[in-house]
Amino acid sequence: TRANRVRGNKMDVATEEKVMDPRTKTIVFKMLNSGVLREIHGVVSAGKEANVYHAVTGDYEGIESNVECAIKIFKTSMNEFKNRAEYLEGDYRFKNKKSQHNTRKLIKLWAEKETRNLKRMRSAGIQCPEPILLRENILIMSFIGRDGFPAPRLRDVEVDTQVWKGIYHSVIKTMRKMYHQCKLVHADLSEYNLMYRKRVLWVIDVAQAVDLDHPLALDFLKKDCVSMATFFNKKGVQSTMSPRRLFDFVVETAAEGVDIDQYIEKIEQDISSSGGPKSIEEQLKEDAVFMQVYIPRNLSAIRPLPDGTVEARNDQDYFEVVTGLSTHSILYAMLEENQKEGEEETK
Ligand code: ADP
Ligand code: MG
Repeated sequence: TRANRVRGNKMDVATEEKVMDPRTKTIVFKMLNSGVLREIHGVVSAGKEANVYHAVTGDYEGIESNVECAIKIFKTSMNEFKNRAEYLEGDYRFKNKKSQHNTRKLIKLWAEKETRNLKRMRSAGIQCPEPILLRENILIMSFIGRDGFPAPRLRDVEVDTQVWKGIYHSVIKTMRKMYHQCKLVHADLSEYNLMYRKRVLWVIDVAQAVDLDHPLALDFLKKDCVSMATFFNKKGVQSTMSPRRLFDFVVETAAEGVDIDQYIEKIEQDISSSGGPKSIEEQLKEDAVFMQVYIPRNLSAIRPLPDGTVEARNDQDYFEVVTGLSTHSILYAMLEENQKEGEEETK
């Protein structure tokens, strides 16, 4: 995935891809004409939901001129809608384009969400692209890389185990920071959405990142923890936290104010002294209960039942949670809190 550097014929490469719908094309042409962009080069990445192009900024008020940038264009033909569109197209009753209009609105929201998440992350000091300009489904952001070559994703990085260990630490500390300072869960964390350049980790692709308020935020976090624990375990990094332990590390409030590196070191010593390195398969087996249980987001999401068990609910469904599972630190803390509240009420 290298950008084809085609200087001179500005839009040719981008339009050749035939992925831009007419309205998107119009906006991009306007950006070129008004000087927001000086030129657009090739496609850095053609994904299911978005394409990313390499470009150079022009002269435009409020924008640094003549710098490389990445243009993420969210496709108005995103998969979920594509199937439905197929049924509608060609049917004269749906020629009013109303559905197309709503889809555009939705995609626009998606681009807006990525922009806002990036801003939140940058104000917390997390290394991620800086949003430069947002127009509908088109997000211009700073380019991670140089001369049209994007920085490698962790998927493509080749370094020795010691360096991987450092990257691992950056990743888990970033997850914590995102959680506590940005109140965000990435929700699609993988070796494809992390870049590495000049020994710095960069987090990208945050359109789907959710606020901690989201009913499934902790479930998404669990998924992210499995993904990262698996990746670094398979890279041979010693004493990596199991998905469950990583989850606890990310959400733990007791670690606030303490030296985070020392805290990690302590955990790693504990892991290596208690049985040494385990394969991710073993870890997942040991964490089976944690993996299955629905983790309630807050007190209002669980309620104790008369028989001593707990019922957890999200917005649509109710899940049974047996008391044995309350060993999980969060659930446990919430139960205690809930109990206290109950006691106070009966006083
Ligand atoms: P998708 O939803 O298609 O996964 P991403 O945001 O992950 O979208 O971007 C896809 C790819 O484009 C990334 O893997 C990365 O290689 C490249 N990319 C995205 N943003 C940038 C950027 N700001 N600078 C350089 N390359 C980028
Ligand atoms: Mg991605």
